[in-house]
This record gives sequence, structure tokens and C-alpha cells, in this order.
Amino acid sequence: MPSGANGQGVGAGALLAILRDGRARTRGELARLTGLSRSTVTQRLDGLIDQRWVVAGEDSISSGGRPAGVFAFNGGARAVLAADLGATHARLAVLDLSMNVLAERAAELPVEQGPERTLCRVADILRDLLATTGLDPAQVCGVGVGLPGPVEHGSGRPVNPPIMPGWDGFAVPGWLQGRLGAPVLVDNDVNIMALGEHWTAGPAVDPLIYVKIGTGIGSGIVSGGRLHRGAQGAAGDVGHIRVAGSRAPCRCGNAGCLEAVASGASMAAALRAAGIEAAGSRDVVALMRAGDLTATRLVRQAGREVGAVMASIVNFFNPSVIVLGGDVAEAGEQVLAGVRETIYSRSLPLATQHLAIRASELGDRAGIVGAAVMVAEHVLAPSAIDRQIAG
Ligand SMILES: [Zn+2]
Repeated sequence: MPSGANGQGVGAGALLAILRDGRARTRGELARLTGLSRSTVTQRLDGLIDQRWVVAGEDSISSGGRPAGVFAFNGGARAVLAADLGATHARLAVLDLSMNVLAERAAELPVEQGPERTLCRVADILRDLLATTGLDPAQVCGVGVGLPGPVEHGSGRPVNPPIMPGWDGFAVPGWLQGRLGAPVLVDNDVNIMALGEHWTAGPAVDPLIYVKIGTGIGSGIVSGGRLHRGAQGAAGDVGHIRVAGSRAPCRCGNAGCLEAVASGASMAAALRAAGIEAAGSRDVVALMRAGDLTATRLVRQAGREVGAVMASIVNFFNPSVIVLGGDVAEAGEQVLAGVRETIYSRSLPLATQHLAIRASELGDRAGIVGAAVMVAEHVLAPSAIDRQIAG
């Protein structure tokens, strides 16, 4: 991606951005791609090698003559701590900047016990996990956190989160940074899951919409390689779109919302009303897997309801892929079949011509991978790398 004549304005950060796809390149290739002279490429690479962002090697597959020197992104140069907090469970991990999971743990961690108790456990577990990797805490370049509620992205503070008592306005980044000694970025859990899936699918799969069907229903949108948050950070809130013909009361105060008919919580309530014991979304899926006909019918119908809402969104937004995740979506074909059936029958043919509708590739790792991607995008932003190397 040459940027202007003679590579003007192409700093070390832009070179690193090219190498982040994982392919090693020679000086000559980098000069061609950037428009920089080979001597300037060499100078930029020296800065990147000094900071261990890039490693030099030899191209073993070059045929004949001297092997060419190649340069590759060093994903192991730094580590990221990641925490994906759900309503009652959390997944925590240490990853490198190539998104390899170095250590990982799932924990019972109800967010309703308030921010300080919850985040204390988060910090303790992350420190434990880091110790098991043998990495030095100085190698941690950032901490990424996903929370199960709305987050003001700029400040990392939760905003009126409905299932997180005591968290409204709590300064999560400052609190955690004080204990973990690295910058902390926070976002809504569905947003980071969308980022994780987008990173795994690759940059060509864009725009991507990730729909989480669990206790509630929400979605994250990645377009042009970036999260689309909307003016107030409320983009993607598909759970409270009205479903035709439904008057079911919703926890938001309205009636007929998608979440009131197709979420794990609403299906569990419907099962209880039919005299079948079900506490939440996991029980709904377990009953369906055990062959319970009521649960199976509910899950299939939930897929069609989600599909009807997504059909409108497909017409409006023309995504390249819709990824389904969350407890209920992991029930597999029953949900996918309902979603596909409705989207393909109701969306415009041009919008569905190349549309993929599939289950999450990362499953319950989507959140930790996405949290680490969020940190990596921040730390490895070309302007940040340029500042680091200049300083
Ligand atoms: Zn609602």
C-alpha cells in the first residue's frame, strides 16, 4: 500500500502493519510495497528489530544463489492479558500478539457481586496465569476486558448495565491498571467477540455481524476492519427490535422484543410455563440435546425469529457473513437452519448472493481472542509504533 510518492509518511509502524499478516518478506518486497528506498526500509527495520517487533531470518525456499534475508512479525514479542466476563462465568487468558493462547482458565465469577470483588478475582487469576507461562510481567503490553453490558468505549466505564449492579460508571481501566501495571481497554462482550471472529476469518470477510444468542441477544458489527459502535455505542442492539405478532413483555420495558421470544432466558421461561424444569439457556440446550420436543420446537422457532430480524439487517447492511455464537447458537443446526431459512426467504437476492451464515469458529474463546485483538490493534497501531521507535 504505497502512501504517497517515494513512500513519504510511511513509518516503521506501516511496515509492521504489512508484516502482521504473518508472511515474511525481503527488503526488496517491502520497498516495492511501500515505495520506500531499500536503505530507508533497512533503517525502519532496524528500529523494529531493536524493539523485538520484527525478527530477521533467511528465506529457506529461495531457489539457487544466496538465501535472501527475510523479516517477519514477532508475535511472541509481547503478551496480552484477556478477560471475558459473562453474567456468571468468566474466561481468562494470556495470549501473544499472534493470538496464540498461552494459558487459559474458566471461572465461576458472578458480576453481580460488584466491580471490586469481581475485578480482584480477575487480577488474581490473570497474575496466576501469567506466572504459569513463565513470562516476565514487563512483557505484558496491555489488558483487554469484555463486560456483559453497555460500555462507553473511550473511558472503559459501564453505562447503566442492566445485569451488573454497582458497576455503573465504575472506572474499570484505572482500577485494573493499578493492579496489573499495563494499560487496560474495555468493551462490551459482544463487540469483542465480533472482533475475535473477524480476526479469525481474515480481513477479506467484511463486513461481519456476530450475533450472540445466550441469556439475552445482542450483536457486534465489524466493517472496514473496525468495530462499528454507532454515535453512542448502542449499535448492534438487535435484541430489542420488534418481532411481528408478538406482545411478550421484555425486561427493557417494551413488549414484543426479539429477546422476549428468542433468548435463552425467554425459552427457559416458556419451558417452565409448560411444567418443564429449566433455569436458563444451558438447560434449554441440554433438554433439546436430550430430545425434548418442546425445547426443540422452541429453539427452532427462536432461530426463525432471529432470522426474521436479521433478514431486515441483511437488506439494510449487506454483510459478507453472519456468525452465530452464544449458548443457544452452539446448539448447532437447529438454530442455524431456522436462521438460514428465514434470511434466505426474506432478504433480497443480491444481498444474500454471497452471504455466509455460520456458527462461531472460536466458540467460547471468541471473547478472549477478541479482547487480545482489541489490545493488539491499539498497541500495534502504526502511529503508536512510530512514537515508540522515535522515542
Ligand atoms: Zn426489549
